[in-house]
Amino acid sequence: QKAQIGVTGLAVMGRNLARNFARHGHTVAVHNRSYGRTKELVEEFGHEGTFLPAETAEQFVASLERPRRVVIMVKAGPATDAVIDEFAPLLEEGDMLIDAGNAHFADTRRREAALKEQGLHFVGTGVSGGEEGALHGPSIMPGGSKESYQALGPLLEDISAKVDGEPCCVHVGPDGAGHFVKMVHNGIEYADMQLIAEAYDLLRQVGGHTPAEIAEVFQGWNEGRLGSYLIEITAEVLKQTDAATGKPFVDVVVDRAEQKGTGRWTVQAALDLGVPVSGIAESVFARALSGGADVRDAAASAGLPGPGASAGLHAGDLVADVEQALFASKIVAYAQGFQQVQAASAEYGWDIDPGAMAKIWRAGCIIRAKFLDFIKQAYDKQPALPTLLVDEYFLDAVSGAQDAWRRVVVTAAQQGIPAPGFSSALAYYDGLRAKRLPAALIQGQRDFFGAHTYQRVDKPGAFHTLWAAENRPEVDA
Ligand code: NDP
Repeated sequence: QKAQIGVTGLAVMGRNLARNFARHGHTVAVHNRSYGRTKELVEEFGHEGTFLPAETAEQFVASLERPRRVVIMVKAGPATDAVIDEFAPLLEEGDMLIDAGNAHFADTRRREAALKEQGLHFVGTGVSGGEEGALHGPSIMPGGSKESYQALGPLLEDISAKVDGEPCCVHVGPDGAGHFVKMVHNGIEYADMQLIAEAYDLLRQVGGHTPAEIAEVFQGWNEGRLGSYLIEITAEVLKQTDAATGKPFVDVVVDRAEQKGTGRWTVQAALDLGVPVSGIAESVFARALSGGADVRDAAASAGLPGPGASAGLHAGDLVADVEQALFASKIVAYAQGFQQVQAASAEYGWDIDPGAMAKIWRAGCIIRAKFLDFIKQAYDKQPALPTLLVDEYFLDAVSGAQDAWRRVVVTAAQQGIPAPGFSSALAYYDGLRAKRLPAALIQGQRDFFGAHTYQRVDKPGAFHTLWAAENRPEVDA
C-alpha cells in the first residue's frame, strides 16, 4: 500500500494537517526528524485513518505513490532548507515538495528556481487558521506551477475549509505567489486587530464603558456588517474575568503586543513595491511602540503633557460613530492590502485573481468575515479595480461614514487617545481624494537642491528651473 501524500514535520501544524488528510480517507505517510513525534501521532490518532509511519527519509519517500507529494511542515527558515536538502536527492522528476510553513516569499522563489532545475515542483503554500484550522479545514494558498496544482489541488481542496461547499483553496500563482498572499493576509490581520483594539480603547476611555459592556457592543456588531471571527473572539476576550483577581482579563495583561514577523515582512515588501499600506504599517509600528518599554517608561517619568481640561467631549453617538470609523478604516486597510497583492502580481508576473483571494479567505483563516463576500463581488464586477474604495458597495460605506469617522478621529486627538489606525486610514483616504497634493511642492524642493526635474501640468516633458544663485540659502563651508 502506498500513500497519496506525505507529511514531514509533525509538530502541532504538521500533525493536524496529516490527521486532516487521513480523516478525509487519504493514506498519509508521516515522518519527523525525531521519530518520537511520528510514533506519538500514530499511537494517539492512528484510529482516525491510515498512516504509514516512516523512521527514515528513505522509508518515507519509498512509501509514497508517484508523483510523490511531500508536505514540509517544519520551522520556517534554515530548517526548511535542511529538509529540502535531505529530500530533494531522494525524489524523481515530477515529484512535488510542498512547503506549508510560513516561509518568506523570496526564499520560496529561490527554492522553486533551484528545484525546477532538478525537475522537481516546489510548491510554496500559505496555510492559515492555526492549529484548529489545520485539523478542521484551513484556508490554503498554494503557489508553484499550474501542473503541480493539477496533481495536488484536489487533495488540498479536500482538506480545506468550505463555504457553501466551495473549497477555500485555489492556485494563487507561480513560485512565491502563495506565500506572498499568505503574508499579506497576516498583514491585513495585524491592521484589523489594531483597529478593533482602538475601537475598544475609545469606547472605554471616551465612553467610560466597562470591558463587559464593550463585549456586548462587539457581540452586536458581530451580527452586522462587521461580522467576523476577529470581532467574535474580541467579545470573548473582553468578557473574560481573571480568576485570581476578579478583574477584567484585559486589565491583568501586560500591554505590550508581540509579533512573529509576517506583519513586518508585509510592510517591508510594500516599501519595495512602493505601495502605501499605511494601515498595516501603523499596526506594526503600534505593536513596536507598545513593546518599547524603555521609551514608554521615560515618557511616563517625564510626564509628557496631554490635552487640557477644556478638551472637547465627543459630539454624537459614540458607539455608532466608532462602528462607522472601524468599518471605514477596515475598508481602507483591506483596499491597501489588496492593492499590494495586485502590485506584486504585476511585478512578478503572477497573474493573481484578487477576487479568488477574497473567496478563499471567507473561512478557515483568521480574517474570515462576511466582508470578504463584498470584496469578491467587487473584483468579479471589475477584475482590474484600481482600489476597493471605488467599488459601489465600499464607496457607499465610506460615504456614509464620513462625519462619524472624522468625529471619532477628532475626539481621539482632542482627548489624547492614540488612534493611529483610524487617523492614518482617514489621512490616506483624504490623500486619495485630494484634487491637489502638496507633492508639487516636494517636486520643487527636489528640483531646487538636486536638479531632479519635475513635470508640468500644462505640457509634457521633464523640466528643470535654473534657481537663481542669489536665492539659494548660503551654506557654511
Ligand atoms: P514549529 O515551527 O515549532 O517547528 C517544529 C517542527 O520543525 C518539528 O517537527 C521539528 O522537528 C521540525 N524541525 C525544526 N528544525 C528542523 C530541522 N533542522 N530539520 C528537520 N526538522 C526540523 O512547528 P509548528 O507546527 O508550530 O509550525 C510549522 C510551520 O507551520 C512553521 O513554518 C510555522 O510558521 C507554520 N505555521 C504555523 C501556524 C501556527 O499556528 N502554529 C499557522 C500557520 C503556519 P523535531 O520534532 O525533530 O524537533
